[in-house]
Amino acid sequence: MNTIILDVCDPQYYDDAVVLVRSFFPRTEVMRPGEARDTSAPLLSEKSLPEGPVIRHLPASDTLFVRPQIPDSTSGENGSLPDKKERHETFKRELYRDLSQYTGRTLPWGYLTGVRPSKIAFAMLQEGAGEKAILEEFEKKHLCRDDKARLALTVARREREILGTRDFKDGYSLYIGIPFCPTTCLYCSFPSYPVAGHKDQVEPYIDALIREMRASADIMRGKRLDTVYFGGGTPTALSSGQLDRLLTALEEIFPVGEALELTVEAGRPDSVTPQKMETLRRHNVTRVSVNPQTMNDDTLALIGRRHSADQVREAFHMARAAGFDNINMDMILGLPGEDEPEVKKTLEEIEALGPESLTVHSLAIKRAAALNVQRILYRDLSLVNSDALVSLTHEAAARMGLSPYYMYRQKNMTGNFENVGFAKVGKECLYNILIMEEVQTIVACGAGAATKRVFPNGRIERAMNVKDIDSYIRRTDEMADRKRKLFSLSV
Ligand code: SF4
Repeated sequence: MNTIILDVCDPQYYDDAVVLVRSFFPRTEVMRPGEARDTSAPLLSEKSLPEGPVIRHLPASDTLFVRPQIPDSTSGENGSLPDKKERHETFKRELYRDLSQYTGRTLPWGYLTGVRPSKIAFAMLQEGAGEKAILEEFEKKHLCRDDKARLALTVARREREILGTRDFKDGYSLYIGIPFCPTTCLYCSFPSYPVAGHKDQVEPYIDALIREMRASADIMRGKRLDTVYFGGGTPTALSSGQLDRLLTALEEIFPVGEALELTVEAGRPDSVTPQKMETLRRHNVTRVSVNPQTMNDDTLALIGRRHSADQVREAFHMARAAGFDNINMDMILGLPGEDEPEVKKTLEEIEALGPESLTVHSLAIKRAAALNVQRILYRDLSLVNSDALVSLTHEAAARMGLSPYYMYRQKNMTGNFENVGFAKVGKECLYNILIMEEVQTIVACGAGAATKRVFPNGRIERAMNVKDIDSYIRRTDEMADRKRKLFSLSV
């Protein structure tokens, strides 16, 4: 299929429809009738399409025409008028059924398109719901598969155990974004700039970041700091001296001593040195993430990571030698050309290293990623994820003594699976749970960072920072003002 023309009569349902259609037809261009290329326009004006909902293949231009059914807004489940949420649920359920019938396929998570399936189970557990009711919510309402429903429930139960009785709504977490990396990965959609080409911006960026951190600490004064997370980008793309300066500032500005954990992503092995690892340890960083994504050199070269599997092993050993007893490794399923043999090899190598946690992602191709923007160049590459591959990761994690403790989904994931974090007991990353379950305010500093204020009643409001580095450096005070405004909102 070259193109899908999606004709949604009521615009309020368009976003729901796009996500679902893309889930069934990944890597196919979806457009509105008015945006369709000339070749398909005559087909649409042939009046060959019936009135009402339809899914029809237009062979001449290899186009699929999808016109979903819009739910009746005049009668709800109990005879009352359906509310907005109910109408959207009905719309998605019906479109999912139609697409499923047309393609002969179902999706692991049914028509659930949200990023946090475990949040549904978590909220239901909080309200005292039992296993049966939670599984039914996933399987009967959202049409999820049983194994996925059980995964969401398992994760939610573990999250509750880990969070314990501490009231995280009383505290906050701090996120610091470093938007530099050694090179840009093919699938990247994060704020990230190749550090060598942006050398002159690094020091001014750190200055601006420290300024924003000071303003943020003022805003949060008197509140308890629970977790700190350095992400990006790749924080270890900074030099050892720059990391030292930033961490020293962090200790001066925030009450880091009271935090339960301090994570720094050292995601790119080609950015790791023994000196940087020692610097992190000296500043009491408790957890680092050294991410292979794959242990196959050919794939690493293809996805633009410009490091080898050997460098992953070396970086891991550097972290261990510096004294880290909590190391995470990330891997991705669905990378170009990778299937069972390649995934098995990656898992074997990770098992041999023995990290305390493993995060398994299913490749998500976001709009801004080179893999999407230049998709014509990569259209012959197979991007496969499957139940068999996902099972391999669960089996390997179990052999390593790691069990699932947080999860999330993204739009446009290969195979419509999920990302799962596995960890040894006591080595979980609290920040990951707090951000996924949205049970705590996250104060975020840096280019592209998003501060999220969680109110006691569960309401969430955000303040976004600009993504571009120069704009961020110039407008740091404005970013601080946005935060001040967010935290001055009344409860
Ligand atoms: S390491 Fe992460 S942030 Fe950096 S380019 Fe690759 S995907 Fe993007």
